[in-house]
Parts: sequence; structure tokens; C-alpha cells
Amino acid sequence: MRGGGGGAGSGGRGRGPGRTLAWLVVTTAPTIGVLALQGDVREHVHALEAVGATAVPVKLESELHGIQGIVLPGGESTVIDKLLRSFGLFEPLRDRLRGGLPAYGSCAGMILLADRVTDATADQQTLGGIDMTVRRNAFGRQVDSFEQDVAYADWPAPVHAVFIRAPWVEQVGESVEVLARVDGGRADGRIVAVRHGALLATSFHPEVTGDHRVHAQFVDMVRERG
Ligand code: GLN
Repeated sequence: MRGGGGGAGSGGRGRGPGRTLAWLVVTTAPTIGVLALQGDVREHVHALEAVGATAVPVKLESELHGIQGIVLPGGESTVIDKLLRSFGLFEPLRDRLRGGLPAYGSCAGMILLADRVTDATADQQTLGGIDMTVRRNAFGRQVDSFEQDVAYADWPAPVHAVFIRAPWVEQVGESVEVLARVDGGRADGRIVAVRHGALLATSFHPEVTGDHRVHAQFVDMVRERG
């Protein structure tokens, strides 16, 4: 549906520059949803648009159909989980993720993409997809929120990571790529960014720093997926 949509839609307009232009728009500006049930939706929309995507808030099942990727923002994972279920989005979204929809989860969004959660509430569920165990509120009360530069993948400059009641990743499966770890302090070495296939997750909030490289990475992942 994703790749075919543009071709079929522009087919009626036929040959010539119009068609080429339509194809270019489809390939250069993927439409990426931002789950808009709770959390810092606006900041993600802004970051995605700054790196050339078309960002659309997603609250309804029908809004899942036109997107080529989705961002799951930070907030409170237990609340987002409950809202997903009451809005009838939980299963359709989980099915799309299982079908290969690229997703980027930040903080609570990381928790939603985890196959396993430590310190979850009794009835908390996750959408899953990333073979990892995540610990909620892992950094503890005294450092509820803090900021630190973290080395990220092979990028030449570190990412300024803002952690807000953040999870860390306790364990990852073999096919999960570790992108960033905390450097120093009590949490030294803890994993805070991962990629597993078309799924990307960070413990921190790049959407609040003005550094859009993580969003650009995700948009590239969506483009690669075609
Ligand atoms: N502590 C929150 C949770 O468990 C996550 C916090 C955040 O997204 N900033 O979901």
C-alpha cells in the first residue's frame, strides 16, 4: 500500500512533469504520524517537519492508514497504554508495527516498543517489537531529570540527551543495535538508545533540544523502507 499508493494515485494524471513531481514529493517527504493521545506531540511534529517529513497527529484508527512511519512521544506509558486501548488503537497499531511500520519511541514511547518492561504497573501492556527489557523510571528519584551529552552511533558529535523520569534498557536481544549509553555516574554504561530493524527508541527527548539528527535518522529509516 505504501509504495503503490503514490504510483496508483498519480497514474490518472498520466505522463509528464506533473507525474515526476508527484513521485518526488512521495519519495522526499514521507508522511509520519505522531501518536497524539498524550505527551509532547507538538515538539515531535515540529522536529519531523524540520527534517523534511510531513507530520500528522494520530488519534484515530483511520489515521493510521495514510502514514509511512509513526513517532510515539514521551509522556506516561501507563496512561498512553490505557488511552490506546480506549481509543481502539492498541491492536491496529500493534498489527501495523508487526507488519513493518517504522516507529520511533522516545522515553514513554521507548517503553511502548519494548517486548519486556521491569517496574510496569500490574495491567500495563506494551505494543512491543524491540527485543529488549526496559526499566521504567530507572534513574531514580534524585535524578528524575538530567541532561548529558552521549556518544551516539558513529556520529561525529555527541547528542545532548535530556532525560525526564526516563527508562533505561537493561537487556537487549542479539539483533538489537545499541546506539548510545550513559557515560559516567551511577548509571554508567546503561543503554539509552537502540535500533531493531525499522524500530528506533531513545530514553531521552531529542525533540526538546533543537538537534534534529535523531528525527532525521528516523526519517531516513522510513525512506529506506520505501
Ligand atoms: N516515566 C514515564 C513512564 O513510565 C516516562 C517519562 C517520559 O516519557 N518522559 O512512562
